Amino acid sequence: MIELDKRSVMYLPGVGPKKAALLEKEAGVASFEDLLYYFPYKYVDRSRLYTVDSITADMHYIQLKGNIQSFETLGEGRTKRLIARFSDGTGIIELVWFKGISYIKEKYRPGKEYIVFGRPTEFGRTCNIVHPDIDPVEQAGQVANGLTPFYNTTDKMKQSFLNSRAIQNLQYALLNLLGPTIRETLSADVLRRTGMISLTEAMRNIHFPESADMLAKAQLRLKFDELFFIQLNFVRMLSSRKSKHAGFTCPTVGDNFNTFYKNYLPFELTDAQKRVVREIRADMGGRSQMNRLLQGDVGSGKTLVALLAMLLAIDNNYQACMMAPTEILANQHYATVMNFLSDMNIRVALLTGSTKRKERDELWPRIISGEINILIGTHALIENNVIFHSLGLAIIDEQHRFGVEQRARLWKKNSSPPHVLVMTATPIPRTLAMTLYGDLDVSVIDQLPPGRKPVMTQHRYDNGKKELYAFMRREIRLGRQAYVVYPMIEESEKMDYKNLVEGFEIFAEIFPEYKVDMVHGRMKTAEKDAVMQRFITGQTNILLATTVIEVGVNVPNASVMIIESAERFGLSQLHQLRGRVGRGSDQSYCILVSSYKLSADTRRRLEIMVETSNGFEIAEADLRLRGHGDLEGTRQSGTGIDLKIANLAADGQLLQYARDIASGIYEKDSNLTSQEHTCLKQRLTTLFSQKHDWGMIS
Ligand code: ADP
Ligand code: MG
Repeated sequence: MIELDKRSVMYLPGVGPKKAALLEKEAGVASFEDLLYYFPYKYVDRSRLYTVDSITADMHYIQLKGNIQSFETLGEGRTKRLIARFSDGTGIIELVWFKGISYIKEKYRPGKEYIVFGRPTEFGRTCNIVHPDIDPVEQAGQVANGLTPFYNTTDKMKQSFLNSRAIQNLQYALLNLLGPTIRETLSADVLRRTGMISLTEAMRNIHFPESADMLAKAQLRLKFDELFFIQLNFVRMLSSRKSKHAGFTCPTVGDNFNTFYKNYLPFELTDAQKRVVREIRADMGGRSQMNRLLQGDVGSGKTLVALLAMLLAIDNNYQACMMAPTEILANQHYATVMNFLSDMNIRVALLTGSTKRKERDELWPRIISGEINILIGTHALIENNVIFHSLGLAIIDEQHRFGVEQRARLWKKNSSPPHVLVMTATPIPRTLAMTLYGDLDVSVIDQLPPGRKPVMTQHRYDNGKKELYAFMRREIRLGRQAYVVYPMIEESEKMDYKNLVEGFEIFAEIFPEYKVDMVHGRMKTAEKDAVMQRFITGQTNILLATTVIEVGVNVPNASVMIIESAERFGLSQLHQLRGRVGRGSDQSYCILVSSYKLSADTRRRLEIMVETSNGFEIAEADLRLRGHGDLEGTRQSGTGIDLKIANLAADGQLLQYARDIASGIYEKDSNLTSQEHTCLKQRLTTLFSQKHDWGMIS
C-alpha cells in the first residue's frame, strides 16, 4: 500500500519539480495525501447544455456544444489575446485567451465539435467567455458528467496552467493510480455504528461525484473523519492528562480566601461568578490538574474570579501567577489586585518588560523562596530565569494573544504542571470551543454585574459628522471621555496611519477647548503607555486610536466609543471595541460610522451590533456570517487546526456526534490497543505526531 503522506505529487504525470514546488507553496499540496485532501470548494452542474442565443452576463457557469469557426490574434504585449469565434447554430460567442495562445491554437481545431465550459462576462454589448475549458465532445463525458468540481487556485498557479481543471486532472490521475487501495482511517466498528461509506468511495465521490446523493454521503463521511480525529485526539489528551498528572490539590478553603470573601469583597458576586468559583474550587480541590477556559464578556468580572482562585492556591501554600498580554493590562491587574488586597498580608509583585534590572534582581530570590505569593506580569513571567518555589496556579488573561508555545513554557515552571485557568473575553461559539479547546473544561460568566446599562449602539453614515461632534461635545461637557477608533489593516498600514493623523487634525480643530490625543501601533511601548496613562487618569478628553486599545483596558469614565470605517471591522472586533465603554455607571454609547456603500453582509454585521450586546449571540452570528476560517482565534490559536471540509457553523450536530463516538471508543479501549483500533491509532499518529503533545497544556 502506498504511503500517501510520503509520496510526492511529483510522481504524477505532468508534474515536474517546478509545478510541484508551486503546488506546495501556493496550495500546501506536497504529497499524494495533501492532494487527495485538497477538496473542491464547489460543484457546478454540467449535465445541462445551454444555447448561445440564451446567454446573458448574469449567468454563472454554462456549457455549450458547437465548433470553433476561426481564430484571431489581437493586440500587443499585455493586451495580446486570442479570440475564437464559437458557434452552436443559434448564435456566435467569442472565446478569449490572454495566456497560452500558441498552445491553444495548436490544440484545438476549427470545425471539430467541442464542449465549452466557462463563465460568460459582459463585453461591450455582447458576452464572451474568458479562458473557458474545452473538451472534444467524445472526451467530455470522462471527466465532466454532471457535477463538476471546482478547486481553489491562485493567480500564480493559473499562470503556470495549474487551474481548477488541471487540479481535477491530477485528482483523476491520482485516483486511477491508487485504485481501490486508499487506506481506511475508520475502524470497522466505527463504520458499522455510523453507517458511513468507505474512505475510498468518499474520495472518489468528493472529486468525481457519481450523483448528488453520493456527493452528500462523501461530504458527510469526510467531515465526520475530520471532526472525529480531532475529538479522538482531545479525548486521548484528557485521559492521559488525568492519569499522568496528579495536580496540586487545593482542598483547603482557608484564611485568605475567607477573610477576603467576608471582609474585603466590595460587592456581592453575581450568580454566574459564584457558579464559576464553585467550578474552579471543585477542580483545584480534586486530584487532577485543572485546565479550564473561562469565558465571560467584557466587564463580566473575570478578574475577581481569578483573584479568588489565587487566594485558594495561597491557602494551600502554593504561589499563583497571572499573565496578561500587554504591559498596560498587567499594570492594571496589579493595581486592581493590590487595591483589593491592601489590608491583607499577601505579597504581590509585578514583573513586566520594563521592570528594571535592579528590581528584577531583587525580585527573583523572593519568587524562588516562595515569599512572593502572587506574581502578575506579561510574558516576562515565562522567561527562563523566573523560577517559582511552588507554582500551584497559573492564570492567563485574554488568552488569544498568547501562543501555545508560550503557554507551554509556563507549564514547565514546575516538575508537575500547575492548575491552569485561561480567561477570554472573546466569546467562542460552542462548536469552535470544542474544536479548539476540546481538552479544556469550559466555564462561562453569562451575566453582567447589576446596574450596568447596556451600551446604546447606533449606526451612522459618514455625512452625519456634525451631529456626531455635537453629541460628543455634550458628553465631554458632562465630564466623560471618548474613544475614536480607526481601522488598522496590515496591508495598508500607511493609509491607516494617514487616516488616523488626519482624524487627529480634524478633532484637534473641532475641539480646541479639549485635549485630544492619539495612540497607534507604530509608537514605542513606552510612548503608548504614556498616552494611555494620560487617558486613564482623565487628562485626555478624546483619544484617537487604532485597534491597539482593543483588549482589556478599563477606563470607567469613558462613555463614548466612535468607530470610524466600521465596515472594515469584523463582528467580534467591533464587540471587543464596544466593550471598552459601558464600564462605569453612566449610560454609554457606541457609534458605528460607515460609508453608504455596504455589502449585504457588512450591513448585517452592523445591524447585529445595533440589535444585541450579547457576546455569545454575536459570536454565533459571526460564525454564521463568516464561516469559522476567518474567526479571530482560529488563526492565532496555534492549535494547528485547519478544517478542510467541516464547517463549524453548519456541522455542530455532527461535531457532537463525532465527540460522542470518540468518547465511546476510549471508554472501551483507553489506549486503543485492540487490533480493531490499530487504524485509528495510526491515523492519530499521522495527523498529530509532528506537533508537540500539547495534551499537557491548555
Ligand atoms: P472583565 O471580565 O472584562 O475582566 P473586570 O474583572 O475587569 O471584567 O470587571 C469589570 C468591572 O466590574 C470592575 O470594575 C470590577 O470591579 C467590577 N465588578 C466585578 N464583579 C462585580 C460584581 N459582582 N458586582 C459589581 N461590580 C463588579
Ligand atoms: Mg479583564
